[in-house]
Amino acid sequence: MIAAQLLAYYFTELKDDQLKKIDKYLYSMRFSDDTLKDIMNRFRREMENGLGRDTSPTASIKMLPTFVRSIPDGSEKGDFIALDLGGSNFRILRVKVTQDKKQPVQMESQVYETPDDIIHGNGSRLFGHVADCLGDFMEKQKIKDKKLPVGFTFSFPCAQTKLDEAVLLTWTKKFKVSGVEGVDVVSLLNKAIKKRGFYMWGRTGTNACYMEELRHIDQVEGDEGRMCINTEWGAFGDDGSLEDIRTEFDREIDRGSINPGKQLFEKMASGMYIGELVRLILVKMAKEGLLFEGRITPELLTKGKIETKHVSAIEKSKEGLKKCMEILTRLGVEPSDEDCLAVQHVCTIVSFRSANLIASTLGGILCRLKENKGVTRLRTTVGIDGSLYKMHPQYARRLHKTVRRLVPDSDVRFLLSESGSAKGAAMVTAVAYRLTEQARQIQQTMAEFRLSKAQLLEVKKRMKVEIERGLKKDTHKEATVKMLPTFVRRTPDGTENGDFLALDLGGTNFRVLLVKIRSGKKRSVEMHNKIYAIPIEVMQGTGEELFDHIVYCISDFLDYMGMKSARLPLGFTFSFPCHQTSLDAGILVTWTKGFKATDCEGEDVVELLREAIKRKEEFELDVVAIVNDTVGTMMTCAYEEPNCEVGLIAGTGSNACYMEETKNIEIVEGNEGRMCVNMEWGAFGDNGCLDDIRTKYDQAVDENSLNEGKQRYEKMCSGMYLGEIVRQILIDLTKRGFLFRGQISETLKTRGIFETKFLSQIESDRLALLQVRAILQQLGLDSTCDDSIIVKEVCGTVSRRAAQICGAGMAAVVDKIRENRGLDHLDITVGVDGTLYKLHPHFSRIFQQTVKELAPKCNVIFLLSEDGSGKGAALITAVGCRQRELDAQQQ
Ligand code: ADP
Ligand code: MG
Repeated sequence: MIAAQLLAYYFTELKDDQLKKIDKYLYSMRFSDDTLKDIMNRFRREMENGLGRDTSPTASIKMLPTFVRSIPDGSEKGDFIALDLGGSNFRILRVKVTQDKKQPVQMESQVYETPDDIIHGNGSRLFGHVADCLGDFMEKQKIKDKKLPVGFTFSFPCAQTKLDEAVLLTWTKKFKVSGVEGVDVVSLLNKAIKKRGFYMWGRTGTNACYMEELRHIDQVEGDEGRMCINTEWGAFGDDGSLEDIRTEFDREIDRGSINPGKQLFEKMASGMYIGELVRLILVKMAKEGLLFEGRITPELLTKGKIETKHVSAIEKSKEGLKKCMEILTRLGVEPSDEDCLAVQHVCTIVSFRSANLIASTLGGILCRLKENKGVTRLRTTVGIDGSLYKMHPQYARRLHKTVRRLVPDSDVRFLLSESGSAKGAAMVTAVAYRLTEQARQIQQTMAEFRLSKAQLLEVKKRMKVEIERGLKKDTHKEATVKMLPTFVRRTPDGTENGDFLALDLGGTNFRVLLVKIRSGKKRSVEMHNKIYAIPIEVMQGTGEELFDHIVYCISDFLDYMGMKSARLPLGFTFSFPCHQTSLDAGILVTWTKGFKATDCEGEDVVELLREAIKRKEEFELDVVAIVNDTVGTMMTCAYEEPNCEVGLIAGTGSNACYMEETKNIEIVEGNEGRMCVNMEWGAFGDNGCLDDIRTKYDQAVDENSLNEGKQRYEKMCSGMYLGEIVRQILIDLTKRGFLFRGQISETLKTRGIFETKFLSQIESDRLALLQVRAILQQLGLDSTCDDSIIVKEVCGTVSRRAAQICGAGMAAVVDKIRENRGLDHLDITVGVDGTLYKLHPHFSRIFQQTVKELAPKCNVIFLLSEDGSGKGAALITAVGCRQRELDAQQQ
């Protein structure tokens, strides 16, 4: 009993002693946490270098973009072929990805031999071999005539510029095939297969990849979303940054490799070199008499005789020593029990070092992810593959422990990637396939909104036709673009003088204004105004209620200004289509925008206003002019720039006016001079002439509106509707599963939630994707980053079309003026108002560009109008008062 205890004690002592000796001997392979953290930080720096524009060309870690922009979201399905070249075996797999929850991925695979003479031969032989094997596999699977997409796991460092292109940087591991480095392996493979219809692309494997924020990847354009980065971390240290931790054994391995000086980290950490490292250590220890009583056998001296799987077996807790004895005996070194114990410890140190090194680089990635996400605690899952991790008895546990120590504020889950990199390739292929298909369908949807120059020229041409129809007596009645005379016969000349009242009805706000215009040396315009609300029940109540409300507001304003007794001339900006028979008579053709008061259509709104003033019996006013806001805008700009003879509104609605030759306006008597025509071009297309470019989304917006079938052009290009078009598209894309995880929220169903100001915000170039996401979230749309990209594209496409068709209309107008005047070249200024034009980040630029392209013979200058509805109305009133005096003198 005592003897046995003594014996056990003796063994423990012996063991401890032996192990301590080896610990000391391999001191440089054992890292403290401080060293590991240091390595981790070096790796982080190298990652940054690899991503940076200036630093990436010389960085040792290549950080290669993979052009895989998303991680699998479970909606992939399909049948794929995956090739896996570069691991220990060349394998071909058929992977079926289904939405079956229990067995989402089904696989069949076959391993093919890759003889040494191929591994060290030339490129065409290698890829010919791969293609032969693929043919054989497809034959056996009876899918020879099927054109399945093929994913190519090519586990060597490749530079990818596209998803289906991968230029081999350098061979690693056992491969040394001539004529392939610097060449696109996907095209080599494609050439070898010589079968069209394959969807192929390369992906490098086995090291580490992670999703990086696109804004950090200087090599790829765009700032939005994330992309999978293949770190190629095997090359870590190739610039000398790991010299202090490399041992003589590492150097020896490197010297004997086919790519000396390269992949230094890989040679220290990857499973592939672990057996060899152990062998080199054993050789040295034996030479120094520390093992096997100095016996060295030819087997022990043979490269590759100790494999990684041997290391795994030796480190098994129970039968490890027995295995060790077997393995060493096979090497002929006649090991003692102590030898076995020592060799087992050597194995532990070497494999532990590998786990530690991987933990520090993985830790570097995790720190980066944590920083990118801006979270205090990182929750993430790491998928790991590789036989060392899978087969080695202690490796995984050690790796996990070290990672958690190095990145303490994290909950990292490690997931064994079960069927190797080929499944990864298939998954990535599936993701790529899904994204490509989805992108294609989204692009197809958006394509309807992307008008060619020919189409825009056609819009211009049709506008011209409608303009003529509106001007001609015979066709005026049924014309959609009404070309309404305004009886404004000239633009201001600076001699206007006096105090005027103005009303502005029909925009977002109802306002009453006092405008003081001074001529001569003290030329100036001074304005006072007050905004009044028009409740929706008044907007859509009776005409009497509406006009009583207006008069009530005027009364309040006159009290406020203390001028109830002055009988001021008034200009009434009324931004709806009106048939005018004189400057101060306007019969409402139809309400537009949000208005729908009864008993007004077909009535003279100036009369309605005068009657309401009489009903009130509080004050008297001289209503001189009824003014369309486009005309007000033109007049305001013309006051500053006499060349301004066109007015444009791009706000809630869309409309334009211009100075037409009176003789062309057939419904107005007289052939002298010019008169401003209020085009009311918003109704362009109401006869169906734009139906070929209207989409089903435009139709849906129309059907949901107050005035179905009317103002079709306006509904494609004005502020009141752009958001609605976007909303209709988003609903459709969501229904088709491309957005918001296919969930149509109550918010998305709500009419009007998507105001045009959100388009402006979302489309702003200054906004990062996260901010777009925040806007959508504020709207109650729970979106991912990918969603945000799509929404932004939808907004951009809709507003671009709006600017373009609006520009096409304007091109028709300026060209018409040019032709009226028989000019080869026209210089003209357009006065513009409207929040869409003023505040949208791209609308005005695209609009102007379109005008320039479609009306190349006109040099058009655009002038922003300041308060055209107020100032312009006063100017028209002043011009009108003067005209009245002239008329009186003539009589
Ligand atoms: P109105 O045309 O009614 O006189 P505005 O010219 O101010 O008035 O246009 C108002 C319209 O402009 C709103 O209906 C809205 O659709 C749009 N809008 C408001 N804010 C923005 C913005 N930031 N960017 C683009 N459009 C906007
Ligand atoms: Mg306005």
